[in-house]
Amino acid sequence: MNLVILYQEELAGSGMAVIRDPRRVLHIQNILRAMPGEQIKVGLLNGRIGEGEIISSTPEMMELQVEFSSEPPPVLPVTLILALPRPKTYKKVLQAATAMGVKKFIVIESWKVDKSYWNSPVLSEEETREQFILGLEQGMDTALPEISFKRRFKPFVEDELPEIIKGRLPLLAHPGAVSPCPRNVAGPVVLCVGPEGGFTGYEVALLEKHGMQPVSIGARILRTEFAVCALLGKIF
Ligand code: SAM
Repeated sequence: MNLVILYQEELAGSGMAVIRDPRRVLHIQNILRAMPGEQIKVGLLNGRIGEGEIISSTPEMMELQVEFSSEPPPVLPVTLILALPRPKTYKKVLQAATAMGVKKFIVIESWKVDKSYWNSPVLSEEETREQFILGLEQGMDTALPEISFKRRFKPFVEDELPEIIKGRLPLLAHPGAVSPCPRNVAGPVVLCVGPEGGFTGYEVALLEKHGMQPVSIGARILRTEFAVCALLGKIF
């Protein structure tokens, strides 16, 4: 936790904030080892970031004097389309991509996505938001990403994708693609990452037909969570 996210309802009058959630209180005490009188980095969810001076600290609650003085880091101009991975990987990808500045996620169905994954509790609004918060805390950011789920691959690709990629560089991360993934792209990008078993030939062909450009980051095939980070690191 590099930035302690605060919520509007935790703000009291005259610049004071009170945290009662054990996860953050214990992290500040035991991991950051911050004591009364010391400053920690804080940010208001969907707001500005700044400093908080610890006024009092018990295992149950912490009082801070806070001042929000700067804007969160710039958004990464990317829409990340992700074939639904297994629940553990879903959590890792959301956290890591959020820490890197992704603000727009579209999670899609594809042939090699195990159907049971769609019933996982990790997809709930609450658990998804938890991953976003963990990513924001890591990446020193406050702006909550948005996410949508598309359970039907073909209608999504045929009816929605063309509009989504308009004015954006549409990249399909595909091991074995002939074209290398571009570096240091200046404008907005749509990046599509496949499921753990990969996209089928039919799916790749349909994505290409609707504008996606297959690119590779090399001969080594990476796990989804590492591939997402390697791709974003290269593209931006
Ligand atoms: N056996 C699958 C295949 O060959 O596509 C492996 C899928 S990989 C675990 C999951 C996703 O990460 C891929 O669909 C792709 O989007 C991305 N990825 C992993 N390694 C990559 C690479 N070297 N180049 C481009 N994309 C890659």
